[in-house]
Amino acid sequence: MDMNSATSQFKNRFGYSPARIVRAPGRINLLGEHVDYNDGLVLPAAIDRATYIAFSPSVTDRSTIVAVDFDQPAVFSVEGLSAKSQTDGSPLPEWAHYPTGLMWALREAGLATPAMDAVFLSNVPRGSGLSSSASVEMAFALAWQTLGGWTRSPMERALLGQKAENQYVGVNCGIMDQFASACGEENKALLLDCRSLEYRSLPLPESVSLVVADTTVRRKLTSGEYNNRRNACEETVNLLKDDLRAMTSLSEVHLVDITILAKGLPPELARRSRHVVEEIGRVNQSQSLLEAGDVQQFGQLMNQCHVSLRDLYEVSIPELDAMVEIAQGLRGCYGARLTGAGFGGCTINLVEREHASEFVERLAKGYESNTGLHPEIYICRASDGARLL
Ligand code: ADP
Ligand code: MG
Repeated sequence: MDMNSATSQFKNRFGYSPARIVRAPGRINLLGEHVDYNDGLVLPAAIDRATYIAFSPSVTDRSTIVAVDFDQPAVFSVEGLSAKSQTDGSPLPEWAHYPTGLMWALREAGLATPAMDAVFLSNVPRGSGLSSSASVEMAFALAWQTLGGWTRSPMERALLGQKAENQYVGVNCGIMDQFASACGEENKALLLDCRSLEYRSLPLPESVSLVVADTTVRRKLTSGEYNNRRNACEETVNLLKDDLRAMTSLSEVHLVDITILAKGLPPELARRSRHVVEEIGRVNQSQSLLEAGDVQQFGQLMNQCHVSLRDLYEVSIPELDAMVEIAQGLRGCYGARLTGAGFGGCTINLVEREHASEFVERLAKGYESNTGLHPEIYICRASDGARLL
């Protein structure tokens, strides 16, 4: 599953060799959960699982894009973009909304999107919290940049990808996923200020692995709960405005203030906002810890984050708690917490590399005997962002 298979798949489908290959990774988030939509700080890293596209300019005005993982082509041109239809009038398959969404967003920005022949495939698991969708988007943004002969910065491409996902695909995501896929750096975590979009990279020791453990629990009403949490944060901002007039997001509340301010809030809102403010504080703290290579203390912040997501933000479930508790008791584990929206999905674990395979084995066993479920567990390392190969 890499650039060689993208090339051979392209030759199979189109009968000639592709002009170029791009690679764009998935991502994990080490710290800063449920703070992106509060304009706070997040700490994602791109990972060594990625989407690969092999592509060439098309000699026609139609793009033919094959999703190898779905064994399905989509054929489209500019005319069918807003109707989300293919050139034969049939609806675009759902996966094609990501590439066509990118095409739409790029064209909205006045950028050329020449027709292409392309195949793409990915080893980022879909719908598991590693952001396969952003990796597809950032790969196509770079493919079109290459064919279109224009240049936008990685952050600008990330914003165009977010726009495609928000407005064309119809998913209300923040900027973190596309940002990490576009701007990732090997063996680095990225500290992003979601308001200013300023960021810097922080070193992750080569001796640690990023282990993602999927509980395999998928809750149906997750988006409802996610929207509830977003609304709670907005409501809190509105209530606090009486005290802090110019305030527009929870990221502006200081750690010392939240204790006082929370007293005047309904208990549920007090818990939610305390999580957000303290979580931003933890990401702030993580900066000097990672600079000093102190993964031990950094791992403690991840553990604290889990407690906060469980008790204050209340987005955990027994399966996530079990996965985290088991992990925290294993050799080589610095920190473990639930990651993503919650109510199912994955945990992220920071693990000493030499113990990583043993960790995976024991975590899987422990989780299985505790819950009867078979988890999917991925060992990752921090990798480069989207690149032409
Ligand atoms: P994730 O958390 O992995 O980003 P999403 O639901 O946001 O989950 O995105 C998953 C969707 O992205 C898939 O249903 C599919 O439409 C698209 N996608 C992701 N990976 C691929 C792939 N390898 N091939 C085609 N489409 C993909
Ligand atoms: Mg996604």
